[in-house]
Amino acid sequence: MSRLAVVCGGSRGIGGAVALLLAERGCRVVVLSRDQDSARAAMEALPGGDHLSLSCDVSEEQEVQRSFETIQKTCGSVSYLVNAAGINRDSLLLRTPPHLMVSMLHTNLLGSMLTCRAALRSMLRPPGGAIVNIGSVVGLKGNAGQSVYSASKSGLQGFTRSLAKEVASRNVRVNLLLPGFIRTNMTEGLEDSERLIPLRRFGTGQEVAQAVLFLLESQYVTGAELLVDGGLHLSM
Ligand code: NAP
Repeated sequence: MSRLAVVCGGSRGIGGAVALLLAERGCRVVVLSRDQDSARAAMEALPGGDHLSLSCDVSEEQEVQRSFETIQKTCGSVSYLVNAAGINRDSLLLRTPPHLMVSMLHTNLLGSMLTCRAALRSMLRPPGGAIVNIGSVVGLKGNAGQSVYSASKSGLQGFTRSLAKEVASRNVRVNLLLPGFIRTNMTEGLEDSERLIPLRRFGTGQEVAQAVLFLLESQYVTGAELLVDGGLHLSM
């Protein structure tokens, strides 16, 4: 039987590449994002049939709950969850309005907590599954102009480690992937930053997706943090 994989933020960018790779590897994929049309278009482009797309704002508890109830009813138990839904607005703290702080924390941190909570209900019966949260090298190293974004991503580190401890006895593994600069909508116009990267180029969504697949499939890896950043952390 094929595995059911839910990819939050699967309509484009890193999540889009993850959805594609998982579908290529035979998973049945659920693509989640706020915009219904782009979630559906991404889902329809996946190889194989029987995939699903849902419009869901991961920062809204009721929407998350409703979506995972629909997934359980329509497709059954979730095997894999990938949290790639995220937003970033670069801004010095003094210039960051509180509503922007709330939306970054709610989408990047609370959103992953809500989807993990909803997916776990289905992963624990019968026990087993794997979760990959997408953090950032910035959550590890910090960056001027990204204090709130960085806080949301650092929060994912404590969350991932703690949740890994909570659910390991039920054979659910929880890992964190830390990308550097990856070529997506989020990094448009930042090409100058290439000089900061030891490998001298941005990564691709496919390269991150390969690492996500490794974490999903590695049966003896949990609570781990994997940097996929072309060595950027070495120079920050
Ligand atoms: P992206 O191309 O902008 O894609 C973001 C995805 O998240 C889209 O599918 C978007 O769809 C979805 N999304 C945003 N807010 C959402 C919400 N509230 N509820 C549900 N879905 C939501 O960004 P990306 O570069 O692929 O980034 C993916 C993840 O990697 C993010 O967590 C980001 O912080 C992290 N990351 C990216 C980089 C990079 O260099 N690109 C580096 C480090 C970490 P809708 O807009 O339709 O909702």
